[in-house]
Amino acid sequence: MALIVQKFGGTSVGTIEKIAAVAKRVIERQQEGNRMIVVLSAMAGETDRLIGMANSIQRIPDLREMDMLISSGEQVSVALFAMAVKAASYDAVSLLGDQVAIRTDQKHTRARIGSIGAERIQAYLDQGKIVTVAGFQGVTDQGDITTLGRGGSDTTAVALAAALKADACEIFTDVEGVFTTDPGVCSKARKIDYISYDEMLELASLGAKVLDIRAVSMAKRFKVPVHVRSTFTNTIGTWVVDEEKIMESMLVSGITYSKKEARITVKKVPDQPGTAAKIFLPISDAGILVDMIIQNTHDGGLTDMTFTVPKSDYDRAMDILNKVAVEIQAEEVTGDQEIAKVSIVGVGMRNHSGIASTMFQIMSKEGINMMMVSTSEIKVSVVIAEKYTELAVRALHDAFALDKNNMPQEVD
Ligand code: ASP
Ligand code: MG
Repeated sequence: MALIVQKFGGTSVGTIEKIAAVAKRVIERQQEGNRMIVVLSAMAGETDRLIGMANSIQRIPDLREMDMLISSGEQVSVALFAMAVKAASYDAVSLLGDQVAIRTDQKHTRARIGSIGAERIQAYLDQGKIVTVAGFQGVTDQGDITTLGRGGSDTTAVALAAALKADACEIFTDVEGVFTTDPGVCSKARKIDYISYDEMLELASLGAKVLDIRAVSMAKRFKVPVHVRSTFTNTIGTWVVDEEKIMESMLVSGITYSKKEARITVKKVPDQPGTAAKIFLPISDAGILVDMIIQNTHDGGLTDMTFTVPKSDYDRAMDILNKVAVEIQAEEVTGDQEIAKVSIVGVGMRNHSGIASTMFQIMSKEGINMMMVSTSEIKVSVVIAEKYTELAVRALHDAFALDKNNMPQEVD
């Protein structure tokens, strides 16, 4: 008998009818001979609605009370789901985070799970019940309710799968799985059958939204096989698994892009110890996340410092840097908000050289200028003018033959 954890997101349980459809689906799986744990998110839009109410009362709401409030959405979902199962003449029981004993630290609205009690769930499963658990929430040692950060239900599901040693964790969502790139940009985008944890981590941090990044790290740590699939069809989705389980890895598995960053250059700063600290300390003190950083070498003891920040922080960053520029006697601060970051990701890069240079050739063939480049072991990112994003994504998708299935590709 397999133990399966299934997680359904807000759109999958957005209406009473949808909850009943999910219940039917779960019952079928149980009747095939599986033990079922079902993690649910709040009904679509509910968490936003609750946060909106809080913000209308207190500009910066008290975080403990915020958790008390926003954890309620999931309580509604699991109760209705358990009723829907019973209405279909099967047995279910709903549990909140504290009833399961999902213990977290005390960081309200962004708590981390420390431990999970398996006993109570196990007992209910032994009685043949479908056990449904409220996603996104936990409890501190003091008994206060916490939440895990937006999108945290994915993490609840993976954590339960790890704690109960489930055979699989299935994340149901409104897309069919993880795609080689955004199908809205590239019509040849293909659903990926298998992807490694590391690749999924890169894709998630580079902007792929299908799986929450904290859930992927947790899955990697406890080696939980995760199956991302559609609520509305029965097709197999994407398996996120250990690298060793994938027989033949692609050189490049996925291409992502982000239009959410802006570039800033601080020109002709003294090339001496302390300059970078003077530039980046006030930026980080302001809570602004810097992504790529490039420092040029220059003649005459001066250098340029170029980096990217989120577009939403661009104006604040420019204000800060214009002040810093005076202090460190930089020539000027320039910026560009019309940029995009395009990245290729693949574990195959670990053992193959020349992937970055192939990418550069493709960019040059399309006449696209690269303003910045950064690499990791399994990723190459380039910053280009925003208007070339779609062209770049399609050209890379073609050149690395991502429309073909999981076979090793040789690049010529
Ligand atoms: N309901 C929470 C949110 O909207 C958690 C989740 O859906 O994963 O962020
Ligand atoms: Mg989600």
